Amino acid sequence: MPGLYWMRWAPDNGNRPLPETQIRVYEIYDSIQGESTLAGTPCTIVRLAGCPLRCSYCDTPQALSFKGGSPLSIDDITARVRDSNHPLCLVTGGEPLAQKPCPVLLSSLADICPTVQLETSGAFDINTVDSRIHRILDIKTPGSGEHIRNMPENYKHLRQGDEIKFVIMDRDDYKWMLETIRLHDLTQSEAPILASPAWGEIAPADLAGWIIEDNPPVRLQLQYHKLIWGHEATGV
Ligand code: SF4
Repeated sequence: MPGLYWMRWAPDNGNRPLPETQIRVYEIYDSIQGESTLAGTPCTIVRLAGCPLRCSYCDTPQALSFKGGSPLSIDDITARVRDSNHPLCLVTGGEPLAQKPCPVLLSSLADICPTVQLETSGAFDINTVDSRIHRILDIKTPGSGEHIRNMPENYKHLRQGDEIKFVIMDRDDYKWMLETIRLHDLTQSEAPILASPAWGEIAPADLAGWIIEDNPPVRLQLQYHKLIWGHEATGV
């Protein structure tokens, strides 16, 4: 059931340092994957707490604090995902890689779940992640206000099974995306490139129209979870 929390969080004010076997989790819930080429797949979503970025369109402001959520052991998180028995697990945030033990968590999840995706802003090195993990690299556009955080060195680490995502705020972002794909030869990575309209900022029909007109090497992505449950719903 979407939004159903699995465990009672231990009281915690976020001030104590965590041992390497623990990670700060904002929420875990069962839903469908709303984005990526696996959109529509039953999925356990593990949302880690904390992000150093402040994107203008961020739709998870509740998960930005590094003192939010509660610390859980990697074993407990893995057990929770195993119990759900879904074919897919998404680790998202916040910015998951901002927490040092995240790669260990991802490997643990890959041991028990057929497919594990990681959604990351790419402001951290994605090469620290197990080769079984499908990385979704959310390349920040100028409209996000955080494009200077992009690490272009991550692009050369993209591999089959990874995906690239651009959230588009306006026509300038769209043109910037095309130029970034060309400049960094992103089609060579074999990672599908998905262009997603920023919710409430740009009409999906506008972005669809530009894509039809220009025939770029991208596909339009809509956020299923917002279409199904509404854009303000959380934990779904
Ligand atoms: S990287 Fe993601 S979680 Fe962090 S501010 Fe941007 S949209 Fe929000």
